[in-house]
Amino acid sequence: MDLNIAGKQALVCGASKGLGFACARALVQEGVNVTLVARTESTLQQAAENLQAIAAGNVQYVVADVTTPEGRERALQACRQVDILVNNAGGPPPGDFRQWSLEDWAKALNDNMLSAIELIRLTLDPMIQNRFGRIVNITSSAVKAPIAVLGLSNGARAGLTGFVAGLARDVAQHNVTINNLLPGFFDTDRLSNTLNYMAQQAGTQVDGFRQQHQQTIPAHRYGKPEEFGMMCASLCSAHAGYLTGQNILLDGGFYPGTF
Ligand code: NAP
Repeated sequence: MDLNIAGKQALVCGASKGLGFACARALVQEGVNVTLVARTESTLQQAAENLQAIAAGNVQYVVADVTTPEGRERALQACRQVDILVNNAGGPPPGDFRQWSLEDWAKALNDNMLSAIELIRLTLDPMIQNRFGRIVNITSSAVKAPIAVLGLSNGARAGLTGFVAGLARDVAQHNVTINNLLPGFFDTDRLSNTLNYMAQQAGTQVDGFRQQHQQTIPAHRYGKPEEFGMMCASLCSAHAGYLTGQNILLDGGFYPGTF
């Protein structure tokens, strides 16, 4: 199915690896021109070269930290017209809330709530004028089913989710959609770090922990980043204008509820 977004301009944050890269890849395959953003030039350049080989859409990259005003400015200088925005940044570290200071909370709120809201603020009005905009925020299954050791993430992402729930309804009339994609357990560097922490807490070896942990997921495996990317691209489709304000869980059936 043609998603009908070839030639659109996408700004994909946190795009040198993992889920952000997978979203960028799926968009490039649809002929979207993509600007990749991440902080480390070497991995970012490698990611851009990998995507340029697909050659359906143009690929450029900008080294920037999207959690800072300067980084967001640099990203938007590189991508002047944003039709598609994928908000993403690294998640906060796991830990025990007794050890978190107000500064830790302020950083989590900045990185995983306010930075995404700022990028939406800076790109939304031109989308409204163009009568086309697709915004996808990468959040976490922890928004729906909190994970205790990821308390900073649970809190900050819930704030973003609450905010965009209102905004999405406000802008739907302009063919601008805002949706959140909630990853469960996807096989990325981030997941490896979390599993190392969880195995350490459980006093066990990470390999065995990984095997056992996957069996607790109804799909009996971790998600593949490309599965996530395909869902992101479909939310950005020209045909998806009636799908907004949703929190879409991709977790291999891990969440046990009916709804
Ligand atoms: P990942 O494999 O560690 O990749 C993170 C990407 O974001 C990298 O390209 C990284 O590159 C970039 N990045 C991080 N901080 C950034 C910043 N401040 N500005 C610009 N780029 C930044 O992580 P992932 O697994 O794809 O996770 C993506 C998001 O989904 C995270 O917020 C994570 O917490 C969340 N999540 C993931 C899972 C999972 O199972 N993987 C589950 C739930 C939630 P640089 O470090 O070079 O900047």
